[in-house]
Amino acid sequence: MSRRSLFELGELAEVGARALADASAEQVIAWAVDTFGGRFCLASSFGDAVLADLVATVAPGVDVLFLDTGLHFPQTLALRDEVARTLPLRVRSVRPARTLDEQAREHGPELWDREPQRCCALRKVAPLAGALGDYDAWATGLRRDESPTRADAPVVGLDARRLKVKVAPLARWTQADVDAYVDRRRLPRNELVALGYPSIGCAPCTRPVAVGASARSGRWARFEQTECGLHG
Ligand code: SF4
Repeated sequence: MSRRSLFELGELAEVGARALADASAEQVIAWAVDTFGGRFCLASSFGDAVLADLVATVAPGVDVLFLDTGLHFPQTLALRDEVARTLPLRVRSVRPARTLDEQAREHGPELWDREPQRCCALRKVAPLAGALGDYDAWATGLRRDESPTRADAPVVGLDARRLKVKVAPLARWTQADVDAYVDRRRLPRNELVALGYPSIGCAPCTRPVAVGASARSGRWARFEQTECGLHG
């Protein structure tokens, strides 16, 4: 399947958004696979395995991109490896252009402690943009209930910055839906969740949160930042 124009992608996103207004997560994934074939992928940070399991059930063989910043918790890498071993998906670890040492030489040590936005741009945003060059559409596990910044996230939309269609099959799900699905399907878990980490990113920028606090309040807790730039 050849690469589509921005106009074409915009039309497809509009059609999808209308058709999938009340669709289940499985129906959203099926539409994306039918529409984009091998030019559709999933991006996962492996805080859980829910979307990977749904995609593997609906369309085995889909590519899964994991942004391997070099700063993830071992529990996250363990879940990534478990998913790669047990589900019929092709997990691709996408690495930044610079190693951590090269980044430290260029920008100083521990950039995440001084300029997390720049660190995210180098270790997440740019690598995702490069990896998505092989695709016309991508799926993300983001949910509206995770934070006020995500409250209006569309299920299907045009990712105009990257010239892709972006789908969020779990946008309407709640944390309770996720927990129930993990239990029902007996999925492997990211062990940090049970330790109070409902939203998991890189180790230096993720803290456990108090019961009842916003899921993403443990991310970049010392900074104004609430998003890494992948979704904004
Ligand atoms: Fe860097 Fe933190 Fe962003 Fe990871 S989450 S890329 S360590 S600033």
